[in-house]
Amino acid sequence: DEQELIRNFCIIAHIDHGKSTLADRFIEKSQIISSREFQSQLLDSMDIERERGITIKSQAVTIPFTSKDGKTYKLNLVDTPGHVDFSYEVSRAIASCEGALLLVDATQGVEAQTLSNMYMAVEQDLEIIPVVNKMDLPSADIGRIREQVDHDLGLDPDLIFPVSAKFGTGVDELLEGIIEWIPSPKGTLDKPLKANIFDSHYDPYKGVIMHVRVFDGELKLGEDIKFYSTGKVNKVEELGYFRITRDSKKSLKAGEVGYIIAGIKDISEVRVGDTITTLKNPCEEPLDGFRDVKPVVFSSIYPVDADQYEDLQAAIDKLRLNDASLVYEKDSSAALGLGFRCGFLGLLHLEVIQERLEREFGLNIVLTSPSVRYRITPKSGEVYFLDNPTEFPDPGVIERAEEPYINAVIITPSEYLGNIMNLCTAKRGIQTELEYLDEKRVEIKYEMPLAEILFDFYDRLKSVSRGYASFDYEENDFKETELVKLDILLNGDVVDALSQLVFKGSAYDKARNVCKRLKGEISRHQFKIPIQGAIGSSIIARETIPALRKDVTSKCYGGDISRKKKLLEKQKEGKKRMKMVGRVELPQNAFLSVLRTD
Ligand code: GDP
Ligand code: MG
Repeated sequence: DEQELIRNFCIIAHIDHGKSTLADRFIEKSQIISSREFQSQLLDSMDIERERGITIKSQAVTIPFTSKDGKTYKLNLVDTPGHVDFSYEVSRAIASCEGALLLVDATQGVEAQTLSNMYMAVEQDLEIIPVVNKMDLPSADIGRIREQVDHDLGLDPDLIFPVSAKFGTGVDELLEGIIEWIPSPKGTLDKPLKANIFDSHYDPYKGVIMHVRVFDGELKLGEDIKFYSTGKVNKVEELGYFRITRDSKKSLKAGEVGYIIAGIKDISEVRVGDTITTLKNPCEEPLDGFRDVKPVVFSSIYPVDADQYEDLQAAIDKLRLNDASLVYEKDSSAALGLGFRCGFLGLLHLEVIQERLEREFGLNIVLTSPSVRYRITPKSGEVYFLDNPTEFPDPGVIERAEEPYINAVIITPSEYLGNIMNLCTAKRGIQTELEYLDEKRVEIKYEMPLAEILFDFYDRLKSVSRGYASFDYEENDFKETELVKLDILLNGDVVDALSQLVFKGSAYDKARNVCKRLKGEISRHQFKIPIQGAIGSSIIARETIPALRKDVTSKCYGGDISRKKKLLEKQKEGKKRMKMVGRVELPQNAFLSVLRTD
């Protein structure tokens, strides 16, 4: 049986524990590419990912490995995204494997994401191999990690593979361990085709390339495939294995991991977690776990210069080719002109899109304050969702407003417990669990509004724990909230792009903050400018910019005419980057600084 020579596995780890580095060592050892071509952290193919050290898109690679037993195995490494925004993708990648390497940094120990990823792997019945990385570092503490692996993870510490992914130490032993401990796939070749899509990407020449794991059956070139969730049918144009480049084959069989190209141009037709079968001989039931992922964070994107609107549209269209989870529609603002209302999987996803628009496309953009999606029950009519402050209805017609909650898990050294509990309470968290993992470390769980972690939560958690606390979360349900729309008025006029949907209890602080920052950004005018924060008609915060006393050119009177001209020209230049709100000149920068989340 060919399946006996296959091992499908993933690496799960908390961020920075060395997943990408270990994947690189595997690829290097397999010599599927020459060392000249070898680029560090190959699996993180996007620039921003490489810079930030975060794997966002999962990648897969088939690594040939000849074991001590003389047989050559096909090791299919399914890389998983390393960030909580993408936990659904992680779960689908895990579901495509029989085993997982649970990687723990020897200097850091078990952290929040290590645990949550392990629970996912346990749920899918994966064989889990504990791997302790960074053994080359002097502060590596294998004794402590052994205890954590035993106690926190419930795994056998004698099974630990100590490695240094950086220097390759222990990697050969680990490869042998994968063959010994991870079971081979047990699919049935003569059953109808059943394959799981765990990722996809867009190729300008070939269209959408699906990353799949075949569970049962065999798929041949030229066959018609059917997508379970949509019922759509497409013809297979190419299929094969991943070897960094595509290694095309005539068929993909039960137990294998590879890619399928089927003339699909729109990536939103291909859904992660969907089941593929054949038109001729369809399977009876899809694989478990499919879910339609929906964006959870929303923000509007505007070009700083209205002339760049079309470029912005083209850039977003292009990003969307490769990213089905980015959703957008046209939006417009009196203050900022034409733009796009976009939905993201989380804050990191938002930041990555923002950075790519700025860096890869050279655009100058403004993003409005990120918002979650609220569920509104009106006094009459149907329940609907609301994320855009400009669509906030008359509060009188709202019967009930609800906001999305998360289940947060934090692991921290016990000396920071008090600080962290204070922070979580300030963020409206409700503690649901507190457990000492050992005498020095505590695991705490909270139900918390998602909106609260959109603003400075990570940073504050890091600072109150001196960087030692780790955090992870999963979506919970909606809970009732007191929702208001906070408006910002400049000289009596509402600046629509600065409006936010907020919890009433936080509105006062937020309003004060924005008013203060705006005061710092707007220069004096000939008249006094009030800056106000308001909920409906009630003013809840106020700052005032005093009127200008002197004309800027006055000091030049009687003096050098050309100097005066230059000064006026400079002023005109400056005006171009100003937006007029009523009679007030608002610098574009003001939007950026006001909306910054720190
Ligand atoms: P990921 O976020 O889990 O993919 O982690 P990376 O592979 O990007 O590694 C995070 C950081 O740890 C990088 O700076 C690596 O160079 C470093 N690193 C990874 N493995 C080792 C190791 O075995 N020893 C040492 N000293 N550093 C390592
Ligand atoms: Mg990585």
